[in-house]
Amino acid sequence: MIKLASIQRRYASDEVETTALADINLDVAAGEFLAIMGPSGCGKSTLLNILGTVDRPTAGQYMFGDRDLATLGEAALARLRGETLGFVFQSFNLIDELTIQENIELGLAYRNVPASDRKARTGAAMDRVGISHRARHFPHQLSGGQQQRAAIARAIVGDPKLILADEPTGNLDTQNGEQVMDILTSLNAEGATIIMVTHSPAHADIARRRIDMLDGRIISSVLRAL
Ligand code: ADP
Repeated sequence: MIKLASIQRRYASDEVETTALADINLDVAAGEFLAIMGPSGCGKSTLLNILGTVDRPTAGQYMFGDRDLATLGEAALARLRGETLGFVFQSFNLIDELTIQENIELGLAYRNVPASDRKARTGAAMDRVGISHRARHFPHQLSGGQQQRAAIARAIVGDPKLILADEPTGNLDTQNGEQVMDILTSLNAEGATIIMVTHSPAHADIARRRIDMLDGRIISSVLRAL
């Protein structure tokens, strides 16, 4: 599904050049559940941003299916994101002025879904994560765990092939973190490919494969025994 070859990402300013990604080679097959770990500053967020097509590498090749993403312009990338990717963030990133239901419906923004189907799909996504009883509430009226479940509903309402999660349990207590991991695990079992950055070794162990990064490189890739 994804093939990264010799990916580099450098940030240049007048005085210093920072190498966020030095040389990343990574294949991700459809249906995988991959955890990315590593110390702060090793390049995890940069890698996730590149995978999510919101940042471009300075060098190297990113193949998504049979498409070389370097050949796509911004509009085509936005369409690819809207149609195939779902994002989950540590800080939930819900819009405060919109209700939970409206936030989740936003996940259909780039989808060609008739208005009549939007409500049904939004409802199904809310049911999926157990948040339907909060549909008309605003984000600040929900607990962190509920907000993250709503954010997952927004990510999955468009039925994305790939879910990118950046420390999805980082702001949650143990119990809510486990709920979120249970949801991600069952989404993966139903066919979604998941790439998750995490600082939690226990949560990384739930993924089928774990890669460790250091200084902009992947230093190990371990497949968990089933
Ligand atoms: P992690 O997510 O593992 O903490 P990041 O991907 O955020 O690491 O950062 C990797 C390196 O790239 C760090 O040294 C960071 O300071 C640098 N970096 C990240 N974003 C920028 C930026 N916009 N400008 C300059 N340097 C950056």
